[in-house]
Amino acid sequence: MNVPFLDLKGQYKAIKDEVHAAMDEVMENTAFAGGPFVAKFEQEFAKFCDSKHAIGVGNGTDALWLSLIALGIKPGDEVITVPNTFIATAEAISFAGAKPVFVDVMEETNNMNPALIEAAITKKTKAIIPVHLFGQPVDLDPIMAIAKKHGLFVIEDACQAHGAEYKGKKAGSMGNAGCFSFYPGKNLGAYGEAGAVVTNDDEAASQMRMFRDHGQAKKYYHGMIGWNARMDGIQGAVLHVKLKYLQGWNDARRKHAQEYSAILSSVKDVILPRQAEYAKHVYHIFAIRVKNRDELMAHLGTKGVACGIHYPVPVHLQEAYGFLNCGVGSFPVAEKCAAEYLSLPMYPELTSEQINYAAQEIKKFYA
Ligand SMILES: *Cc1c(COP(=O)(O)O)cnc(C)c1O
Repeated sequence: MNVPFLDLKGQYKAIKDEVHAAMDEVMENTAFAGGPFVAKFEQEFAKFCDSKHAIGVGNGTDALWLSLIALGIKPGDEVITVPNTFIATAEAISFAGAKPVFVDVMEETNNMNPALIEAAITKKTKAIIPVHLFGQPVDLDPIMAIAKKHGLFVIEDACQAHGAEYKGKKAGSMGNAGCFSFYPGKNLGAYGEAGAVVTNDDEAASQMRMFRDHGQAKKYYHGMIGWNARMDGIQGAVLHVKLKYLQGWNDARRKHAQEYSAILSSVKDVILPRQAEYAKHVYHIFAIRVKNRDELMAHLGTKGVACGIHYPVPVHLQEAYGFLNCGVGSFPVAEKCAAEYLSLPMYPELTSEQINYAAQEIKKFYA
């Protein structure tokens, strides 16, 4: 049996006619850059996230960068985040001119350990970016309390957590800003590059709307030095079609997670991802933890089961961030995650047969 790591084609086939009709409409209207189809999606996505505003941008990295800039993060500032994330979280901080300061994560959730934040705060700290990694919401209440106490902004990196919930609240809706990526493989994926910021802050929203469009509120009248970070009209239209399926797709992922877990819970060499008691996990990634990860991955490869590693090197040990001088051992939990995580195939279109096959092969490997 073949179990690909990702299958974007299956989903495309299921919604092909609807997506093509939406794309045709954009082309008939030649509304290619920003425009009404992006605006329509923004309205729906803001509603979906229980947020006042959604600002469509070029990608998730733009979303993080614009949030930092709109909240006034400047060169010389420090922003606290985690080292076990996709590098974009740190890059956005660097591109705002600030310095990423890492704190380690918790074993149980893979996410920011609130108990470690205060020790990392200095006079230069301006913001905290917790990452809802793999679709599991961060324990946000203690982070919000620390931010309030020290006068810091909180920007949620929700790029892997479309529709996830923390104590019944939508990921992205709780901080000063929430950032989303619609990279094709994400739970809500565009047919190209796209991203969005959600916020309840009117001022920050209008700053980001201007910034993404060369600092103009009116064409060719530039109130600030901005950038081009607009969302394509075609992506707005595709995302508008796909958004109404997101809840169902997330439910399918959650069901798949249960199916994997039911089979693998008896394998003592496998540590399964566990939904935190406060959370609705949306399993963007289903990452198990195992000691002999590379052998297991190779074995599964020979059986037709493709796996991934998210991420093999934590950000503080990436060559790009060598200048921070955080050596091996700086963030032991994040480093252990990087060494042990193995991401199993996870997407709505997976079948029970595929899940059963992949899980049984893991079981056999350890038998
Ligand atoms: C995907 C992702 C990003 C970046 O999004 P792009 O759309 O690829 O720029 C940022 N943070 C996390 C955690 C991500 O998974």
